[in-house]
Amino acid sequence: MSGEPGFRTLVREFAREVVGPRAAAIDREHRFPRDVIDEAARAGLLGILVPAVYGGMGLDHRCFAACIEELAAACASTAVIVDVHGSVATEPILRFGSEEQRRAWLPRLARGEVLGAFALTEPGSGSDAAGLRTTARRRGSEWVLTGTKVFVTNVGEAGLYIVFARTGEVPGARGVSAFLVPADRPGLRVGQIFAKMGLHGSPTGELVLEEVRVPAANLLHAPGRGFEVAMRCLDSGRIGISAQGLGIARAALGEALDRARAQGDGGRETAVALADLAARLEAGRGLVECAARRCSADLPFTREASMAKLFCTDLAMEAASTALEVMGEAGEEQGFGRHFRDAKALQIYEGTNQVQRVVIARQLLRPAAAIPASGAPGGAAGRSG
Ligand SMILES: Cc1cc2nc3c(=O)[nH]c(=O)nc-3n(C[C@H](O)[C@H](O)[C@H](O)COP(=O)(O)OP(=O)(O)OC[C@H]3O[C@@H](n4cnc5c(N)ncnc54)[C@H](O)[C@@H]3O)c2cc1C
Repeated sequence: MSGEPGFRTLVREFAREVVGPRAAAIDREHRFPRDVIDEAARAGLLGILVPAVYGGMGLDHRCFAACIEELAAACASTAVIVDVHGSVATEPILRFGSEEQRRAWLPRLARGEVLGAFALTEPGSGSDAAGLRTTARRRGSEWVLTGTKVFVTNVGEAGLYIVFARTGEVPGARGVSAFLVPADRPGLRVGQIFAKMGLHGSPTGELVLEEVRVPAANLLHAPGRGFEVAMRCLDSGRIGISAQGLGIARAALGEALDRARAQGDGGRETAVALADLAARLEAGRGLVECAARRCSADLPFTREASMAKLFCTDLAMEAASTALEVMGEAGEEQGFGRHFRDAKALQIYEGTNQVQRVVIARQLLRPAAAIPASGAPGGAAGRSG
């Protein structure tokens, strides 16, 4: 395997042989694709970012993005399951975990023995994540967690939840801490599973914590530093979501082009309607590449990740919508309805696209913010990444 291109080819084959043939049934039956996830685990795809010393593939964010794009082009539900597991559920341990926590969890996550989930959002706090109300109280050698999380991807299937809770009386972001909460702890249960318009194979729902006790050693990072864990991991998580957008856009565009080719001369007009999307797909790939390179090189990448997320997920929605129009009445029958329904959630999760604009604006207003492509491939990030 030679870097990102070789790895991408492997995942593309996996997606074509294993994922694609099951995508329509996963969508139709609202079924968690356990069989596909188990095969992805055997192929190493649940441990892409995990260093080899902990049993993973030890690859970078460019490879991770390539994997998510390829999976999403075949099945967006499978892509988001793998993405959440490998980014926001694994990276908190990778980046902020103690050596003991890494040894306890990373090999199991990388092998797919345990699926991960990330539980930040609450009924009263989504975009304003620092307003969360779940509490963690210290009792002797344990923390006791109480509260309700909502919109948790992989809920009910996960063996480990990264849970954010308020420790102490400090209000806002500084009062938030992060915890490793195994799914089998007494008092933890799955509440309502939400019916979504798309991503039918990916369970999203409530996680209820009633006096859930975890050892003191399950605190991630330090007390009051949980918000930092969440924001850093959401930044890199957005690279995966951008790649998911690329995958959906590519699939929709590719299928619409197949239709245009089949129309013979009449297909030229159809292809013209798709030209802008094809150009934007290439541009989107550049944004994802730039953010992934900077992230992998430990350079600041918040702005680039938000730009990629905003651009690529809006692109996915528009590509799916345009392709549906181009296909006419054959659209739903041939799977375009699925792309359209799946794409919508990407504009909402891991920070809505309105919030991405707020993040980008804040970055742009910084005194030293460079408008030119400071992180373009081939620049400083390109050399060290
Ligand atoms: C399918 C799916 C899966 C998800 N998976 C997870 C998960 O695994 N873990 C998890 O913790 N969460 C998850 N989420 C939750 C998701 O991150 C939140 O839905 C999202 O952050 C928005 O929060 P909210 O729904 O409470 O909307 P709100 O924050 O109430 O926002 C409502 C509207 O107001 C806008 N808005 C809010 N604040 C601002 C602002 N400052 N400036 C401009 N506009 C603003 C928003 O853009 C939005 O349009 C998931 C959501 C979905 C739909």
